[in-house]
Amino acid sequence: MALIVQKYGGSSVADTDSIKRVAKRIVETKRAGNDVAVVVSAMGDTTDDLIDQALSIDSNPPAREMDMLMTAGERISMSLLAMAIHAEGSQARSFTGSQAGFMTDAQFGTAHIKSVRPARVRKAMEEGCVAIAAGFQGVSEIGDATTLGRGGSDTSAVALAVALGADVCEIYTDVDGVFTADPRIVPTARRIPAIDYESILEMTSCGAKVLALRCVEYAQRFGMPLHVRSSFSHRSGTVIVPDGVDPRSLPNLA
Ligand code: ADP
Ligand code: ASP
Ligand code: MG
Repeated sequence: MALIVQKYGGSSVADTDSIKRVAKRIVETKRAGNDVAVVVSAMGDTTDDLIDQALSIDSNPPAREMDMLMTAGERISMSLLAMAIHAEGSQARSFTGSQAGFMTDAQFGTAHIKSVRPARVRKAMEEGCVAIAAGFQGVSEIGDATTLGRGGSDTSAVALAVALGADVCEIYTDVDGVFTADPRIVPTARRIPAIDYESILEMTSCGAKVLALRCVEYAQRFGMPLHVRSSFSHRSGTVIVPDGVDPRSLPNLA
């Protein structure tokens, strides 16, 4: 039995049918005997739509209010996902960034995670539930909602995986893993089955948006194994493990 953190990006939960598909996959992982914590992004273009709404009202909206607004996107996806897991006959409990214990500084829009205190996430898993945390969001010392920067759910997932001592952090997206170039732009790009932290760090700092830069930095710092893969297939994707760890030792590979 393993402890697995699964992160589902906005492209994997774009509509309610996708949420049901993802719920099935989570329940499969749980029924295989694993403890599962999930980090979820906002559905599809929700975050962009919220930003557009804000800008149509105020061209220079207060940063605190922007973060309050943007955290709404992940609240929708996390609660719908919990319902979809319930409809599959399993139990799930969703948590906002604050409830899941993501403590951040007060830099609205680009907050840094200072610590993760996942007591409620852990308790939910001990009680047999899938724990679902909202990605991309946290809470400042004085209790304001904060966001981590665009694409920040990847970082939330790794930070939660580290805090829980997970065996692997799986990043589910809409492509089959990390490719030699963006497969949507370069049709001849090849999937990279395994890569080291340094090389993926270089790719993400050059703008490959398949993973957020800070997520990779965090994973490297704490030696957290990553598995980037598609939520639309069961193929294994790209594994990133510390030196000396056999990539084949990761749970839930295929
Ligand atoms: P999610 O909604 O799952 O967070 P993102 O859109 O943030 O997904 O990231 C996945 C996208 O990253 C892919 O659809 C792909 O177009 C793009 N991408 C850019 N560079 C790469 C790369 N080197 N390998 C794989 N995907 C890449
Ligand atoms: N929903 C946020 C964004 O669109 C966070 C994420 O998807 O990782 O940037
Ligand atoms: Mg992303």
